[in-house]
Amino acid sequence: MIDSHSHTFYSKHAVGTVDELVRASIAAGVKVLTITDHAPFPVDTHNRLLDAELERYFADIEQARQRYQGQIRILRGLEFDYMPGADAWNRELIARHELDFAIGSVHYVEVPGEPMVKVWELPRLAAQAFLDRYFADLEGLLQCGLFDAVGHADTLLRGVPEDIVLRRFEPLLPLFADGGVAFELNASGIRKSSLEPGTGREVHGQWSYPSRGLLPLLVERGAAFTVGSDAHDPRDAGAGIGEMLEQLQPLGLRRISYYEARRRVDVPLDLLATTASAEHLINGYVSP
Ligand SMILES: [Zn+2]
Ligand SMILES: [Zn+2]
Repeated sequence: MIDSHSHTFYSKHAVGTVDELVRASIAAGVKVLTITDHAPFPVDTHNRLLDAELERYFADIEQARQRYQGQIRILRGLEFDYMPGADAWNRELIARHELDFAIGSVHYVEVPGEPMVKVWELPRLAAQAFLDRYFADLEGLLQCGLFDAVGHADTLLRGVPEDIVLRRFEPLLPLFADGGVAFELNASGIRKSSLEPGTGREVHGQWSYPSRGLLPLLVERGAAFTVGSDAHDPRDAGAGIGEMLEQLQPLGLRRISYYEARRRVDVPLDLLATTASAEHLINGYVSP
């Protein structure tokens, strides 16, 4: 199993050390783990790595890499915040650190005349003005050329009906075509609440994202997909990924990808199902 999105205490709103996350991932059957704590970002310093912590963060990953060699492959990642005007900040961070994987995510959206919207403020997500800005930002993220994958691009399904999200996504689909930015299938949607259509009540235990309507459209264009638990606690290491892939395979999903030294590695799903794949993945899988 491959998990390309995970957090530790370095993100401040997550718990568990790198070592604890790695041990939990091994126990959960993860063979390739990318640790992707939130990169430093001046808009929210309380929920991100601080610049001064980066060296220790990467040292912890390196230590775990050596300690658990042969049991799991561990990759160095960061989840970056995309906002218009943040390119220079993110580019500088990326240039300064040797990463395997860079996720770009939209968490904060500036809507004219309103307090900044955070994408987990569910009742605010269906507003036209928000959607306009959100999708403009998403386009900016996909075109800035800094990131390997876009994180949870469809997370707003927690508060917006799928047909609206699909219509808004349509013009962006070509940006995911062959060789473009990978689309992340984020398994945390299974653990997150969403607003019930009609009543607007917040409900739990319903899969809001990834979008099952979007997947076939992306497959058709040859998009690459990464997968991640987005665990913020070692107890969620690898959580939901197997279940999610099982549900998405009948919709046309054939391969998933992870990134090593910023290069994409494609893994066919039928290969993942074989026991022989585990050793290949741990020791460095090479795409056929
Ligand atoms: Zn995120
Ligand atoms: Zn995350």
